[in-house]
Amino acid sequence: MTSASADLPDARDWVGQAVRQLEADQRRSADTHLVRLAIPALPGVDLYFKDESTHPSGSLKHRLARSLLLYGLCNGWIGPATRLFDATSGSTAVSEAYFARLLGLPFTAVVPRGTAAAKIAAIEFEGGGVHYVDDAREAVAEAARLAAACNGHFLDQFTYAERATDWRGNNNIAESIFTQMSLERHKVPTWVVCGAGTGGTSATIGRYIRLTGAQTRLCVADPEGSVFHRHFADRSVTCLPDRCGSAIEGIGRAGVELSFIPTVIDRMIAVSDAASIGAMRALSAALGRRVGGSTGTNLAACLQLAREMADEGRSGSIVTLICDSGQRYADTYYDDAWLESRGIAWQDHAAAAAALLTPA
Ligand SMILES: *Cc1c(COP(=O)(O)O)cnc(C)c1O
Repeated sequence: MTSASADLPDARDWVGQAVRQLEADQRRSADTHLVRLAIPALPGVDLYFKDESTHPSGSLKHRLARSLLLYGLCNGWIGPATRLFDATSGSTAVSEAYFARLLGLPFTAVVPRGTAAAKIAAIEFEGGGVHYVDDAREAVAEAARLAAACNGHFLDQFTYAERATDWRGNNNIAESIFTQMSLERHKVPTWVVCGAGTGGTSATIGRYIRLTGAQTRLCVADPEGSVFHRHFADRSVTCLPDRCGSAIEGIGRAGVELSFIPTVIDRMIAVSDAASIGAMRALSAALGRRVGGSTGTNLAACLQLAREMADEGRSGSIVTLICDSGQRYADTYYDDAWLESRGIAWQDHAAAAAALLTPA
């Protein structure tokens, strides 16, 4: 974990400069928008999307990667010659590659063989290297082994996501949401809805809600094939017999990760892949731009909560996230033939979501 070079005397100067570079990058960046979307069929409920697709590296993992790098630097784990590794084929690798290049450090993503070429290209575009494993379940052990072999640092998103993020404030995603809501008609959201991959985002939001004493409740939307909602219902369930049976990237796991903190979550809603893709398609049509699959999972849960609020005669607001754009999924979630080949019957779900989102 500790890089030898991080202990050298002039490494401290380098670490100080590296921290300043991360902070300067953040200073140059704008906050992400909170986009309001009416639900014409349910006029008492206002829906908002925190648009995390507009970060420089394209997803909510921009926040995580910045936090993981800062955590490693300030712990003395990362120095001027430290090679960085993580086990990820997704958005995390793209964001970690972005920040590694900013600091002039080499980064390698350990990915399963067969990872889509578009994703490899996105990692390489940001300057990251790629190391293949035959089975996704070997990726974590291989990333740890590679880091140990060269005295490098394993960023280990699934372990450190919840603790590397400053949950009390510092313009984290939760503080930003509550600040951006402050002039809305229902400024304290009834629900905040997010997914769980590492669990880091839900941990930050759930803790922040408790810290501020807000009446808001946190709902995590989880793929039906994921272990997280099973673990939430019964803490003795910690892994699935096989891999996570979901096609939605970024969320859902076969085993409970260390960064998933169930005690800060008020409710979990399991969403089928077909419902996620249907909601994703309907939202893309309503916004006029493509969003990713996990955003569809979020929307499916939001619409269920909104319907329940309307049935109970309650009005209020629900806030959720656009986790990434649909750009990376042109050949998958936006390809009807690809969906059909996987037996994902999304059309009825898209129509039902569109009926709520489209003015009568
Ligand atoms: C990582 C990820 C999530 C889940 O966020 P966590 O903070 O890791 O739980 C959701 N959607 C996408 C696209 C992601 O990459």
